[in-house]
Amino acid sequence: MRKITDFPSPVPEEFRRFLRRSGIEKVRIISIAILLMVFTNDRKCVEQFGTILLPFSVFIIAVAVIYLIISSLLLRKNNIPQRTVEAVSLSFWCVLCTGFVPFIVLDAYVHPFPINMTMLLLCIIMLPVPDRKNSRIIFAIFAVSNLILASFAKPQPSYMIAIAVMSFAGYMFSCHIHGNYIELINKLTEETRTDFLTLAANRKGGFERARSTLALCKRHRHICGFYMIDIDFFKAYNDNFGHNMGDNALVNVARIIQEVFARKSDIVFRYGGEEFAVCASVDSVESLENLAEKLRRAVENAMIEAGNKSVCDTLTVSVGATAYVPGETDETLDENFMFSMADMALYEAKQAGRNRVVVKLVKDTADK
Ligand code: GH3
Ligand code: MG
Ligand code: MG
Repeated sequence: MRKITDFPSPVPEEFRRFLRRSGIEKVRIISIAILLMVFTNDRKCVEQFGTILLPFSVFIIAVAVIYLIISSLLLRKNNIPQRTVEAVSLSFWCVLCTGFVPFIVLDAYVHPFPINMTMLLLCIIMLPVPDRKNSRIIFAIFAVSNLILASFAKPQPSYMIAIAVMSFAGYMFSCHIHGNYIELINKLTEETRTDFLTLAANRKGGFERARSTLALCKRHRHICGFYMIDIDFFKAYNDNFGHNMGDNALVNVARIIQEVFARKSDIVFRYGGEEFAVCASVDSVESLENLAEKLRRAVENAMIEAGNKSVCDTLTVSVGATAYVPGETDETLDENFMFSMADMALYEAKQAGRNRVVVKLVKDTADK
């Protein structure tokens, strides 16, 4: 039996790697350096309010150092949920901003321009935001709290206008820089799950979706069908008509499979080479077989000339199918096993002469 490799769900792992790649730790260190600069370089503030600001600076440094330790420990762990990463990051920024409050309040007393607020704004712009809605909330809270804090010092209207304008500009800038990588990550993630030639899902994407479909079928007690489809005598097709025509035939067969399994919930993917696989929820074992037969006929009737006409004049496929049947199939069997089972049925279809369907249920093997 062919060994089918297990593909662990990549989402949290990808997010973790993304955090590493984007040098999130460097972002924190730069933020802390900026905050320290604010305190040491702001002579006016230090001269007038040094005793008030010193404990807050120590607080900011302590928070930042604790955060750095926690986040580097977290990033070393495998499979940390995305929600945990976001919660830790958000709490860090909330606590850090609290430490920054006196800097902003006193800023309005000594400066004609909100310089400390601008520094904090730069730090927040560097913070990766998961989406636009979150970004809007963060910047709205930032602008409103800064306006309230500054109003205690009764500054010039221009000072308040500067806060509002800077916050809005910060939001736009943040959307611009972070929006690009969010889009890029989504695009790349999609590409890692798509077959370049046929544009159907690839094995990685197919297995991931099949895993959730099977879990859903087990939960709702639906029959879950698994199909392996292999083009007959495809080597002969390539040899006779060339690889370009071979590629076209693969695209056509993928399209036919997608037309037969056309429901949004049906998962059609290229297993590799000239083999495709399908995972779909079906109503009964009969419809499992009917769909396979419908597919076999659809390919035969597509009138793609065969490379080897010993079985049929047109290009054909052999199909192996199996199903998870609630109450009959062992609940612990996973999608890897089910596809292996369908592959065994496909092997039997090939042995029996090709251009045919073989359905093999799990209990069939238990009986043998
Ligand atoms: P069988 O009926 O037993 O399945 O015979 P077959 O010739 O289809 O099977 P075999 O495994 O001997 O050959 C598969 C062929 O599929 C060989 C390979 O060149 C071709 N193939 C695999 N991937 C591609 C591809 O992406 N493009 C093209 N054009 N051919 C491909
Ligand atoms: Mg093959
Ligand atoms: Mg083949």
